[in-house]
Amino acid sequence: MIDPYGRHTSYLRVSVTDRCDFRCVYCMSENMSFLPKADVLTLEEIDRLCSTFVSLGVRKLRLTGGEPLVRKNIMSLIRNLGRHLKAGTLDELTLTTNGSQLPKFATELFDCGVRRINVSCDTLDPDRFKAITRWGQLQQVHDGLEAAKKAGLHVKINAVALKGINEHEFDNMISWCGEQGFDLTLIETMPMGEITSDRTDQYLPLSVVRNRLREKWTLTDIDYQTGGPARYMQVEETGQRLGFITPLTHNFCESCNRVRLTCTGTLYMCLGQNDSADLLTALRTNADDDLLIETIHEAIGRKPKGHDFMIDRRHSGPAVERHMSVTGG
Ligand code: SAM
Ligand code: SF4
Repeated sequence: MIDPYGRHTSYLRVSVTDRCDFRCVYCMSENMSFLPKADVLTLEEIDRLCSTFVSLGVRKLRLTGGEPLVRKNIMSLIRNLGRHLKAGTLDELTLTTNGSQLPKFATELFDCGVRRINVSCDTLDPDRFKAITRWGQLQQVHDGLEAAKKAGLHVKINAVALKGINEHEFDNMISWCGEQGFDLTLIETMPMGEITSDRTDQYLPLSVVRNRLREKWTLTDIDYQTGGPARYMQVEETGQRLGFITPLTHNFCESCNRVRLTCTGTLYMCLGQNDSADLLTALRTNADDDLLIETIHEAIGRKPKGHDFMIDRRHSGPAVERHMSVTGG
C-alpha cells in the first residue's frame, strides 16, 4: 500500500470501542453519548479487517479506543490476531491503554504475543490524576503497571502536557520512569472533538518543555524512529528514552506510515483531516474480500500530504469534529 506521496502504509491503529471507564478532560466531556452497540463492529469483523490489512502489508497493529481493555471479550480478538505474529506476517501487536484493566489482563496479553504497551498517565499525584481523568484512580493504574512489569511487558508512559496542570511534574516523571524502566512520551494536546474546557488554556508547546528539561537532564538526540509524530531523545542520567509528540509545532507528516480505523469501520487516512473511507459496507455486503481490498487501495490513494491542526486564540474549537476516542490516539 503506497500512497500518492510514496509513503508505505505499514501501521494500522484500530479503535475497538469508543467507550471508556475514564473521562479525561482533554479527551471527553463527562456526559459523553456513546455509539449504540449495533453500530459497532463485532470482534469477528475487526479481526477480518485487521487480517485484510495484514495481507496488504501492514506489519504493526495497535489496538486503542476509547479504552480497548473495557471491550467485552477483547482478549479473544487479541489472541486471534496473535496468529499473524506466529505466522511471521506481523511484526508487532500492541495497544494503548489507560492501564486500569492491566491487573486482570497483563499476563494474558504477554501470552498472546504482545510485548510492548503504551500506558497513559499524565501525573503522579493522586488528586491531580482524579481531576484530569474525572473517574480514574491513580492506584489502579499503578497496580496495572506493576502487573505489566511482572508479566514481562515493556511499558511506555504517555503523558499529555497540560499548561498549568502537570507541567511542573515532568522532572519527577522522568526520574520515576527511570526507576521503573519505562520510556516516557510527552504529547501536545490536539484539537479533536468538542470538550467542555477551552483548549487554548491547555495547550503547552513542547518546544518550551524541552528547553526547560535540558536545564536538568542531558538529552541526546537518538536515531529512533517509529514513522510517527514522536521524536525521541535519550535521557543520559536514566538511560530511558524520552519522546515528544508535537503535531502542532512540528510537521511529521512526511514520514507518516499509518492509517486509523474506527470501531464503526471508517478508515481515516490522517488523524487531522476529515476525509475517510467506509469499509463497513464492503465488509458487510460481500463474503469475499475483493471489494474490501479495492476500497482500501482506493482510500490509500487519497491519503493526504498532511494535517491542518491549529490552536490559537482565533481557532480554539476543534480542527476535526470527532473525539480522539473515536479515531483512537
Ligand atoms: N484509553 C486509552 C488511553 O488513554 O491510553 C487509549 C485511547 S486514548 C484516546 C489514546 C491517547 O490519546 C492517550 O494517551 C490520551 O492521553 C491521548 N489523547 C486523548 N485526547 C487527546 C487530545 N485531545 N490531545 C492529545 N492527546 C490526546
Ligand atoms: Fe479514556 Fe483514554 Fe480518552 Fe482518557 S484519553 S478518556 S482513558 S479514551
